[in-house]
Amino acid sequence: MTTHREPLPSVLETVGETPLVRVQASPDAVPVYAKLESFNPGASIKDRIGKHMLERMLERGDVDPGGTIIEPTAGNTGIGIAVAAGRLDLEAVFVVPERFSVEKQQLMRALGAEVINTPTEDGMGYAIERAHELASELDNAAVPQQFSNPLNAEAHYETTAPEVDEALDGEVGAVVAGCGTGGTLMGMADYFHEREPGTFVGAVEPEGSAYREFFDEDVEHEEYKTEGIGTHDISTNVLFDPEKVDEIFSIPDRDTHEEMGRLAAEEGHLVASSSAANSLAALEVAERAAGGELDLPYDSVVTVFPDSSERYLSKGVYRSYEEWEG
Ligand code: PMP
Repeated sequence: MTTHREPLPSVLETVGETPLVRVQASPDAVPVYAKLESFNPGASIKDRIGKHMLERMLERGDVDPGGTIIEPTAGNTGIGIAVAAGRLDLEAVFVVPERFSVEKQQLMRALGAEVINTPTEDGMGYAIERAHELASELDNAAVPQQFSNPLNAEAHYETTAPEVDEALDGEVGAVVAGCGTGGTLMGMADYFHEREPGTFVGAVEPEGSAYREFFDEDVEHEEYKTEGIGTHDISTNVLFDPEKVDEIFSIPDRDTHEEMGRLAAEEGHLVASSSAANSLAALEVAERAAGGELDLPYDSVVTVFPDSSERYLSKGVYRSYEEWEG
């Protein structure tokens, strides 16, 4: 999506400037607005960090043109990096745990990238290790490592947040976003806290995920179907700073599944599970604020819809809850 009206030299220039749309189910007194990130050329929010990280890494000389980018990724980041790498004269190699959707892996390959699968049970930690091993075997290779790279959060600080700020004339009362790496939420939190320290910041994860351990809570780790957010090992979530977060929302898969269906049927949003979890948490914040239980500096709540449900149709997102494979 772009608001540019002139011809553009490549798809890289269409990253960002996504629409901000009111969630119809939100209260009139405190509307929720969602940034529709499937309008990016690789159809997810991760195009923003693909472009930003690679451009900055080339500028800094972390990697030179003709080199290789190796990234451990659940999928969307791979697509975002692959879109950017091809335009910036870089090769892309991705280390992907098997559980992630086949659609994403096909798209990464279509964009010219190589995909290496690691066993699901070894988790993201092992995928990260493999990526570094592979990079050390090559000259002119770099691992952006979205989980610990400040450029990830910076992409949202420099693009996502200012776009929202401009669209709402600075009147942002709360920012609510699901955390995979935490890059989206941290970048937006930094931006809006600088403008209004009282901005409410809500983190979203699936129930069964371990982000609550950052707040010294005991968590019963369980598998979840919601894709793209949550963690089973908080030592990998280096970017996440609990000091910047007012509250964490742990959304059961069952509620997320119902909201995915509702957003499509009632609001015309073909968005995936992390969007639905974000929607529920953002609506809760808005309803509390509208009911006088929560004080926000402005009467609005902002969230993101990171990607589209089309990317997960093979997993049965619109079938019954039991049939949804997650
Ligand atoms: N939703 C989806 C579909 C994602 O792929 C991701 C990234 N893993 C997120 C949400 C979370 O974004 P972040 O990594 O910035 O926390």
